Amino acid sequence: MSNSIKTINPFNNEPIKEYKIHTSEQLAQILDNSKNAFGKWRQTSIKERCRLLINIAQILEDDKEDLAKLISLEMGKPISQSISEVEKCITLCDFYATNAEDFLADELIDTDASESFISYDPLGTILAIMPWNYPFWQALRFAIPTLTAGNTTILKHASNVTGCALAIEKLFEKAGYPQGCFSTIIANHDAIEKLIANDIIKAVTLTGSEEAGKTIAAIAGKHLKKMVLELGGNNACIILDDADLDKYMDTIVNARMQNAGQSCIAAKRFIVTEPIYDEFLKQFKDKVANLKYGDPMNEQTTIGTLARADLGEVLKKQIDGSVALGATVISGNKQDKAYFEPTILTDITTDMPVFKEETFGPVAPIMKVKNTEEAFKMASETRFGLGTMVFTQSIETAQNFIDTIEDGAYFVNELVKSDARLPFGGTKASGYGRELSKEGIHEFVNRKTVFIK
Ligand code: NAP
Repeated sequence: MSNSIKTINPFNNEPIKEYKIHTSEQLAQILDNSKNAFGKWRQTSIKERCRLLINIAQILEDDKEDLAKLISLEMGKPISQSISEVEKCITLCDFYATNAEDFLADELIDTDASESFISYDPLGTILAIMPWNYPFWQALRFAIPTLTAGNTTILKHASNVTGCALAIEKLFEKAGYPQGCFSTIIANHDAIEKLIANDIIKAVTLTGSEEAGKTIAAIAGKHLKKMVLELGGNNACIILDDADLDKYMDTIVNARMQNAGQSCIAAKRFIVTEPIYDEFLKQFKDKVANLKYGDPMNEQTTIGTLARADLGEVLKKQIDGSVALGATVISGNKQDKAYFEPTILTDITTDMPVFKEETFGPVAPIMKVKNTEEAFKMASETRFGLGTMVFTQSIETAQNFIDTIEDGAYFVNELVKSDARLPFGGTKASGYGRELSKEGIHEFVNRKTVFIK
């Protein structure tokens, strides 16, 4: 096992930097620092914790360009989308700076006691294992509410975004967080079980693939540590007869192609009713053809490379497997290292990999169905449960299906997206637990019952 991590620019395949893996002694020291920091941090007033959030927001604003460049350099996202990612993190800080005090206030409950209430106490050090696709957003989406609730945190980020992971650690330091409140570790997979087993770690959160989720959840279960799991998705995007394509086509294409399709909540299966199918396909194909591939640092670029060259191999296998079962590639499907041309497939059936599995890249399978009922039935044919989106001018029709959706989210005339004000998370193979909103800040707290007779 190597004792260093090398990051590579996926656009030109050039090495960026090499980082030394933390030794077991260094990891033990980071754990100790986190434990010591927790003792004082939990006593810090919520007002002060919220003040530090404002500092973070300001630094993100001031350093936006540099941080965005680092994101684009390490994982190939077009610079305009990297800037949006940093800006979204600012809204997250603002949201919790405004609302955390309310969310964490004692909640009085009327009982036969003279006073009874729920007290929201921090748990201690929380370990976060995070993915590379939104390297700032994913890490901060967890860290901001979790720290503000009085916990300390340790981040094990995806190896290919180690530069971002260290920049995030600096961000907290620069904002004035006490030493040890937020730490980044640079570690191989084999170091993780020992960390989770350590008594200092009170809970774990993982955002990533189903496979990683199962592995880490099994370890956390063995050591009785609470977990939140934000895993893969296979969101359906339903287009009904009366969808307003002129108004929403940009949104629909974006739902699949933003971040080169590397988003858990991306539209991964397009399910289109027969009367609108031909027009949809024509407009979708035209818009996809207009995406501008190029250097992620160029502001005109609208679609970048995949984050790593090996990710294209998985997509290729999924496409080839589907073609062997009868799918037709109507555009795209060229691959060169980390570049993967946006690809549209038709003649889709439920047994194909592009329908059954998560495709983590710019691949759009488009399925024709007879009517609304069949569309919703097909949408539900998945092991995953992150979200479903539907485009229709009949809000009533969309509302009629709310109860049938088993996912964590249902969006009408909008792509499934995260918003600090709304809970975010999945069901089934997409994981469990919620991030963001009041629900998110309550994931890593002890909801303590206090009863005074
Ligand atoms: P991944 O390969 O599962 O990696 C995610 C994180 O887990 C990385 O930090 C990775 O570290 C670590 N990891 C993986 N296996 C591990 C193990 N056995 N022990 C310890 N750590 C382990 O996922 P990814 O390729 O980065 O991200 C893509 C996946 O994440 C997709 O399935 C996507 O849908 C999902 N995702 C879900 C959400 C959500 O909110 N639901 C959001 C974004 C992404 P290394 O980098 O060192 O391998």
